[in-house]
Amino acid sequence: MREQLNHFINGEWVESTGSDVYDVINPATEQVMGRISLGTKEDLDKAVKAARAAYPSFSQTSKEERIEMLENIAAEYANRKDELIEVMTEELGAPLSISEKVHYNMGYNHFAQAAESLKDFSFMDDRGDHTVVKESVGVSGLITPWNFPTNQTSTKIASAFAAGSPVVLKPAELTPFAAIILAEIFDKVGVPKGVFNLVNGTGETIGNGVSSHPDIDFVSFTGSAAVGGKVMKNASETIKNVALELGGKSPLVVLEDADVDEAAKAAVKHIALNSGQVCSAATRMLIPSSMKAEFEEAVKNVLPEFPVGDPQKDNYVGPLVAEKQYDRVQSYIEKGMEEATLLAGGLGKPEGIENGYFVKPTIFTDVKNDMTIARDEIFGPVMSILTYDTIDEAIDIANDTEYGLAGYVYGKDPDTLRKVATRIRAGRVKVNDAEMDFAAPFGGFKQSGIGREWGDYGIDEYLEKKSILGFPS
Ligand code: NAD
Repeated sequence: MREQLNHFINGEWVESTGSDVYDVINPATEQVMGRISLGTKEDLDKAVKAARAAYPSFSQTSKEERIEMLENIAAEYANRKDELIEVMTEELGAPLSISEKVHYNMGYNHFAQAAESLKDFSFMDDRGDHTVVKESVGVSGLITPWNFPTNQTSTKIASAFAAGSPVVLKPAELTPFAAIILAEIFDKVGVPKGVFNLVNGTGETIGNGVSSHPDIDFVSFTGSAAVGGKVMKNASETIKNVALELGGKSPLVVLEDADVDEAAKAAVKHIALNSGQVCSAATRMLIPSSMKAEFEEAVKNVLPEFPVGDPQKDNYVGPLVAEKQYDRVQSYIEKGMEEATLLAGGLGKPEGIENGYFVKPTIFTDVKNDMTIARDEIFGPVMSILTYDTIDEAIDIANDTEYGLAGYVYGKDPDTLRKVATRIRAGRVKVNDAEMDFAAPFGGFKQSGIGREWGDYGIDEYLEKKSILGFPS
């Protein structure tokens, strides 16, 4: 049983002024795995005050000092590897191998990448008649979701630290323990007092408190579009800038000349990874009409390669994070059964599983893009197969969504791959099995968000741009 009833404020663990304690549930067992305190406005005020006090000196540290700090953080993060993996399996339900290869690695790479990006980063742009100086935005408020407990927190914190901005973090209450380990890591490597503050609590109290706080200069939020809108509205009261990383309903376009088995495997992996709780997952598979039967057969064949079950064992798909999420996904599966044709999976828990919020990876075919299952972000292992007859039609369907976070295209002809990749309206498009690149910016078009994270673009979010005229040379 894990327990952290204090908040990390001004370099130490401080008793919560609130008396509410929150039980964190292990979604694979439905048992309580830990307890945290739900903070109050008073706790948040203390954290903001500490960050404000740290701002004058932290914002003036040299680039070299911050590179060293980020490298030390990455090294200490690596020292805590086993514990981070264990925690994410317990609180999120991610299978151990996914906790390691995906969650642990992503967190590590954001700190390492921020140090690397900083080496070439220029905080001054000499433009002849004037100079543009980039300086820390001030105190940043960070609000993160539960689905990637180290990825979302680390990309924000690493960029803010690189830019010289002290932070106040409110992690998701469903998965707070990975962030608690991050606080311990920063403490161990000597991040200056007040530069990192963590207040646990609800979205209602601490989330709203962060977005409306007059002494917070910038808010970076990752989560649902509905809450993102509230954050933006609150932030507008004090004219603070926001970065929003929101949801998605991303298309995967399979071209006529694609290898069907490879494309089918990639498609199933999208809905299986992290139990489909991935904002950038492809959930609408766009298949040439002539390939439909072959693709359906291929996805059914590949499904058993992604077993569902106990995340402590060698499975690929763990449970959904919470009962509420389980119910939500079940209701979408029910809706899909009314609207389209069920190809695999369906309602209820997988055979032989009684406890835990496990669902069957589910595939629908004969889906039309105006159906609910093709429009809403389900956030579970549910795939929709749609067909197209021309490339222009595929691009139209791909873009016919309120979201624009990611897009994927599989095929061989370079001209068609390029045409599709450039015309998908999304912040990140991946061609075939392109490698992950932590320097490439990540963020959304349309209702998928505002701003970019990762690498130098991520650092830029935490900087104000000041022009100086007549700068002495
Ligand atoms: P959510 O919006 O419910 O919660 C996100 C965070 O906001 C949590 O910490 C929550 O406590 C807090 N919050 C809740 N109400 C708030 C309020 N009124 N003001 C301020 N903060 C508040 O989202 P979730 O269910 O935790 O996460 C799932 C969503 O996140 C999905 O829509 C997913 O697509 C999205 N997501 C996006 C990205 C991305 O990078 N674009 C990455 C991961 C997840």
